[in-house]
Amino acid sequence: MVDSKIKIGVLSLQGDFIEHLDVLETLSIESLKVKTISDLNKVDGLIIPGGESTTIKKLIDRYGFEEPIKEKISHGMSVWGTCAGLICIAEKLSDPYPIPMNLIDAEISRNWFGRQVDSFETDLTFKGIKNKIKGIFIRAPIVKKISPNVEILSSLKDGTIVAIKQNKIMGTSFHPELSGTTAVHDYFIRLTKNEN
Ligand code: GLN
Repeated sequence: MVDSKIKIGVLSLQGDFIEHLDVLETLSIESLKVKTISDLNKVDGLIIPGGESTTIKKLIDRYGFEEPIKEKISHGMSVWGTCAGLICIAEKLSDPYPIPMNLIDAEISRNWFGRQVDSFETDLTFKGIKNKIKGIFIRAPIVKKISPNVEILSSLKDGTIVAIKQNKIMGTSFHPELSGTTAVHDYFIRLTKNEN
């Protein structure tokens, strides 16, 4: 049975939106590809997927999504940015581009692991999720700085912050939509329903 109480949109301008939609389908959550403002107006929660943050932000600007997203947040919409999505929702970047939307009080650094390893996998503990989850990092950003009102949900063993939340806005450096787990999507759904 489809959970008809909430609808989750996945911003489908660029990046791995299909993988997010697949996980939502597995969880029997009603979902929607968000390609227009009218799509955005139908959703209770919005996922901004991984991909290329400069391209995603360029398209957000071209289609005028930023103000409507902020307006919807002020009426209770939740937002989850994964990887490039996390870059787009940051308050500030350590890099010159793109200009982020300032939805969460955090500074993000792009392509953090670039010089050492482009991509890797590691087991992570995640606050509010019982079992360890697999973190898949692909040219991933990290959380450099947060304000005190931002909660850390997950860090690497060396203390590098890789998942955060502030009210109903969350961000992950890694890609739960690629790891075969539904736990982080389930967490986001609880956040959307104010159950966390
Ligand atoms: N490196 C990409 C960027 O900076 C993000 C990579 C990803 O989303 N997997 O936009």
